[in-house]
Amino acid sequence: MAAATKIEDFWKAGANPSQPVEDVWIPSVCRGCQNTCGLLAHRVNGVLVRIQGNPDSPHNRGALCSRGLGAIMQIYDPNRIKVPLLRTNPEKGKGVDPQWKQISFDEAFQIISEKLGKIRSENPRELMMVGGEAQNQASMKAFQDSFGAHYFPANFYGTVQNVMLMTTGRQHLEFDYDHCNYLIMFGNKGGGSNNDTTKAPSKMADARARGMKLIVVDPICSQSASKADEWLPIRPGTDGALALAMLNVLLNEVNIYDREFIKVQTNGPYLVDGEGLYVRDDALKPLIYDLSAGRAFPFDSPEIKDAAIEGSYNVNGMDCVPAFQLLKEHISKHTVEKASEITTIPAKTIRRIAEELGRAAQIGATIEINGKTLPLRPACIFPYTRNMVHKHGVWSTISLQLLNFVLGASDVPGGIMAVNLVGPDGTINLNPNPDGIVFRGAPLRFSSLSKKATAKLQEELPQSEAKQQTPFEAFKSSFPETLPVFLSMMHSHPDSFPFKPKALLAVTNNFVMQGIDSTSIIELVKKLEFVAILADRNNETVQFADVVLPVPHYLETYNFPANVFSGWVTHDDVYYTLRQPVVGPPEGTEGPMHVVDVFGEISHRLGLTREFNRNLGANVALKDAYRLEPDKKYSAAEVTDLQIRSDLGAGYDLESLKRTGLVSWPRPVEQKFPRALLKLPRLPIYYEHFIGMGQKLRSSLERLKADPHLADDFQALPDWNPCPTFAKCSIEGNAFHVVSYKLPFHTNSSTQGNPWLMEITERNPYALGILMNRKSAMSLNIVDGQKITLESLSNGVKLDAVAKLSERIHPEVLGIAASFGHWSPGYPLGKGIGTSLNELQSMGAEGLDINGMLDPCVAVKVLPREGA
Ligand code: SF4
Repeated sequence: MAAATKIEDFWKAGANPSQPVEDVWIPSVCRGCQNTCGLLAHRVNGVLVRIQGNPDSPHNRGALCSRGLGAIMQIYDPNRIKVPLLRTNPEKGKGVDPQWKQISFDEAFQIISEKLGKIRSENPRELMMVGGEAQNQASMKAFQDSFGAHYFPANFYGTVQNVMLMTTGRQHLEFDYDHCNYLIMFGNKGGGSNNDTTKAPSKMADARARGMKLIVVDPICSQSASKADEWLPIRPGTDGALALAMLNVLLNEVNIYDREFIKVQTNGPYLVDGEGLYVRDDALKPLIYDLSAGRAFPFDSPEIKDAAIEGSYNVNGMDCVPAFQLLKEHISKHTVEKASEITTIPAKTIRRIAEELGRAAQIGATIEINGKTLPLRPACIFPYTRNMVHKHGVWSTISLQLLNFVLGASDVPGGIMAVNLVGPDGTINLNPNPDGIVFRGAPLRFSSLSKKATAKLQEELPQSEAKQQTPFEAFKSSFPETLPVFLSMMHSHPDSFPFKPKALLAVTNNFVMQGIDSTSIIELVKKLEFVAILADRNNETVQFADVVLPVPHYLETYNFPANVFSGWVTHDDVYYTLRQPVVGPPEGTEGPMHVVDVFGEISHRLGLTREFNRNLGANVALKDAYRLEPDKKYSAAEVTDLQIRSDLGAGYDLESLKRTGLVSWPRPVEQKFPRALLKLPRLPIYYEHFIGMGQKLRSSLERLKADPHLADDFQALPDWNPCPTFAKCSIEGNAFHVVSYKLPFHTNSSTQGNPWLMEITERNPYALGILMNRKSAMSLNIVDGQKITLESLSNGVKLDAVAKLSERIHPEVLGIAASFGHWSPGYPLGKGIGTSLNELQSMGAEGLDINGMLDPCVAVKVLPREGA
């Protein structure tokens, strides 16, 4: 492959594109965000001159968004990190020049392996690893498992993804665009970065043209809301209150629910005693009362013909009721009128949309698809938003899912779909717990890859209650391991750790910029003895590195399958797609090196090749015939070739897939709508297992004299409670909720150096300002474009901003576009532009939700800027 050169050099050299020496189109895959759209790269004489969508990709069908098209500007960005760097200034801090010195790869690996070798010999747990993109996690995790370090996923996702994993067994969801007739969307699917940006808008447009009614619930009138039949501006953090009131309408006012679905597909019929626990048989199986037999059977008995979901029963001398009956009774206190006060949505609207949703679900209807008769439930709730990332957000999201479950609109035509519930080979990607219910380690485990890491940390920590001496240990026994929890505990309880993290190894991650409370994170990172970062850009986190290794741009690298199956896939097709280099490495450089090659080399220098190869082979699921040899150092290309041959079998290898870019085939109907045709574990509508977890945590907290309310949400049925910020906000008190929203032309904090995308940003009148409701602004005598100061009521930080007035935001809310406010030199175009919400936030255990997410919610005062 010809070496790349700068575009301007190419033109200056007088090259004639009409008579190129080389003129090729290469299929590859975008990684401007997680959507992994297929693309075609046009290379002329070694220079990437154009990118366009691959029409053969079943995901994006030829479409690319601005970020995908703008990748050219990142490849040829003069601010890229292209060589290994060594810090020469021992002082670290925001704005402190690291005084980088260019070193060779060999020198960089020498320094890293010496530092890590020492840590490994003393206590491997003292190395923290923070993950990069999903496609790199197999090699990172292989190294982490070989070394014995702590690992944190790069992306904590949101509470929605966590709850989906817990309720459906899959992390992501979409709805059936082809059959749904009535959709209530919470959030902005398709409108924000990462949110299915190319496929969702076109599929949504088709559905709307077909007649699907769309209602969007969001504090901001987003792109989705602007195309909807109705936009319901809601007070932030109150989605759960709305959902419970709607559930109350369906179950207790209009009596619309899918009895058959609840009986067979949920734990609604499980009998519950006066303590809230399942009534079990001698084998500890939960019992179900069968109305036709007049007696109870174990939940999995084939003798159950007509499971009771309502009423009360006496089984073996014990009074008990079905879980669904308890749910109905429990939610009767969540009245529409109360929800209206909480959410600011009129009571008659709540009642109307609940009833419309219920009627549109057409309970009892069926549809014939490919000769098979399936239930049709063409109405559902789409809980797709980060606005459930509040304290108590787990229950808010569960409440939304409960609406789908009671209507029978889950994994059947017309309803909500758990992505890739059935794998390409027909395997059901779902495990029941012993009680027969969908269960993926409550409340959350992020992925199968993170399981081992969690286990390792828990080995380290005293797990028995008698040994739980510190809040950190108590939390760790109840909450999943996430970087926010970890950092929060380090921050709040520095003396409670059974070990002191000494070093950090991070991959393409800017957690200093993206994490909650960046000020505290910086202080924690500064205390580490050694920080090595694999990065392609001199971002804020890199400013605290001791050694930096350059990683390739995604169009200079291999990944297979590039579309990880835990992420977005199409509902209609299975496809495997190859990301391949479309240009060579930057001119005059040794690298950059693929992440697989980097970890292979570090493992080799630490004498861990054997372990690394074993773990890497397991993580990418290589079949026996393609197993990695124990002591061989493999390149990324060799591993990719083995993955292709192992996954796709005879006739496929790296060379063949380089030409076609992907393999795809239509999904059979039982893979598209598995709950309609396959036997799957039951969906949870009653969370009995939370009761025991709460009791355990409560006793630990009591002994530790820690805040007992941290265990409050471990209950079996949903409630809505305000997050800590909720009560602080009032227009009269000049205290606003702040929400962060995503712009579709940026991806997190990674794209603010891209000239094309920054040009779009500057042409958008709202992107860099603070979105403020016009009437609320007028009540404070603030005019459009006025310079203002935001004062955080959480940490007292004051930031300068510009007010942009609009009718398209809830009156009590300010909107900040995510991920601006860069301060590192790697973003000369984005530096000092916009406002960083993260600087206004503070971390603390009081904001910890039961899935390990920290509440990023913040209230601010709006002040006229002094001297402006
Ligand atoms: S949606 Fe994401 S993957 Fe697709 S073109 Fe845009 S940035 Fe690339």
